Amino acid sequence: DFPDFNEATIAGIATPPGAGGIGIIRVSGPQSYAILQHLFHPKNLQHNFISHRLYFGAIVHPETGLAIDEVLAVYMRGPLTYTREEVVEIHGHGSHLLLQEILALIVTFPATRLAEPGEFTKRAFLNGRIDLTQAEAVAELLGAKTREGATLAMSQLRGGLHEEIWKIRDALVAVRAIMEVAIDFPDEDVEILDPQPLMARLDREVQEPLTQLLARAEGGKIIREGVSAVILGRPNVGKSSLLNCLLREERAIVTAIPGTTRDTIEECLDIQGVPVRIIDTAGIRETVEAVEEMGIRRARQKLGEADLVLLVLDGAEGLQAEDRALFAVAADKKVVVVVNKIDRAPDLDIGLYGEVFPGLPVVGISATTGQGIHALEEALYEAATGGHVLQEPGVAAPNVRHTAALQRALGAVQQVGVGLAAGLPPDLLAIDLQGALSFLGDIIGETTTDDVLDMIFAEFCLGK
Ligand code: GDP
Ligand code: ZN
Repeated sequence: DFPDFNEATIAGIATPPGAGGIGIIRVSGPQSYAILQHLFHPKNLQHNFISHRLYFGAIVHPETGLAIDEVLAVYMRGPLTYTREEVVEIHGHGSHLLLQEILALIVTFPATRLAEPGEFTKRAFLNGRIDLTQAEAVAELLGAKTREGATLAMSQLRGGLHEEIWKIRDALVAVRAIMEVAIDFPDEDVEILDPQPLMARLDREVQEPLTQLLARAEGGKIIREGVSAVILGRPNVGKSSLLNCLLREERAIVTAIPGTTRDTIEECLDIQGVPVRIIDTAGIRETVEAVEEMGIRRARQKLGEADLVLLVLDGAEGLQAEDRALFAVAADKKVVVVVNKIDRAPDLDIGLYGEVFPGLPVVGISATTGQGIHALEEALYEAATGGHVLQEPGVAAPNVRHTAALQRALGAVQQVGVGLAAGLPPDLLAIDLQGALSFLGDIIGETTTDDVLDMIFAEFCLGK
């Protein structure tokens, strides 16, 4: 039979709120089949439901006998299901009202209740269908901001990270076995703990792959979280025009985020797979206020936690003292110098700006004609990634949680190496080795504590 960790049957609406073409209710747990039989009246069904087959019929209120909705329903026998439990799905018309009504009927069943956010996926994890990295990948996939982000999540969902970590874990287990022999039979064989081959093995099969995994963390972080960029510049240099121009050019506008203050506008762009949150420090007031009035302090506030600054200059007017003042404020950030309005200054030598801002990328653009905008995107991408190779498609990268554990594991393995070189007894070495194993176990969910699990699954949406 299949593992049934939790006696409760859970139910939830799996499709987003609001009206849609169809809406899906998902039920998982031992009562699923009984619920389906009780509420669903199939049009053509003589016998029992065949697993994984879709039936047409109606959901009928058991007391009034009235049809609530015409639906397609499917019963899926465990363990070949998302949760490995008995699962039922009811595909109704996408009316949230009707879905709510059906859901309310379902949870009147004994030992049946509403699912918590992420609970279906949590069961898939607890029942051993997926590991914790794969469960995390589900949430990541749903929230991916760019196509590249979705690809990254997908490789993790397919077990990319799990496999790599499992391999390292296997190597550690093998080394531990050798040490255990040495602990159990300390005098039998002096060569058992010959440190050289063990160290070489740890290096090749553990430290190196760990280091390689960690090297991918930064690129993964950039793809997942993206960067934020502030557009900074005097009034009328063309900040808002630049933002509009970028929005037009981009293959996808990901989201429009309402500005946190009344005088900022934020948009999220997809720049070659990197989500870039762009903040225009625009606003009605700013266009009438001089920079001095706006105050350096306010400019600094707006820079806040931005990773990048697009310093916009007016190429037709030439460099002003205020431009330099703004640059001074942004100097501790990664700055891309944008010389705008080059359409009005056809003879402008962009190279001169390179001399004023040595070492910084300088791009000449026209926000009105779109000239130079691709070069700007290129510069933005370079600045955002800092030269990191983001990801080869199909390769998973550790997230922040994994990275912390991987670093601890690496530290513990390095300790084993130091201990081996110093000729420490195997029982002492085994402690660090066990530490490394449990850090890896945290990543895949073997040894992860309940509060960490709760935190991870709380991030999910309802019905997933
Ligand atoms: P902001 O105050 O920095 O946000 O500047 P705006 O984007 O509101 O632009 C100020 C004025 O400059 C507007 O009249 C724009 O049409 C104009 N402008 C912006 N970019 C360009 C450009 O590349 N070329 C030209 N010729 N005019 C521009
Ligand atoms: Zn503006």
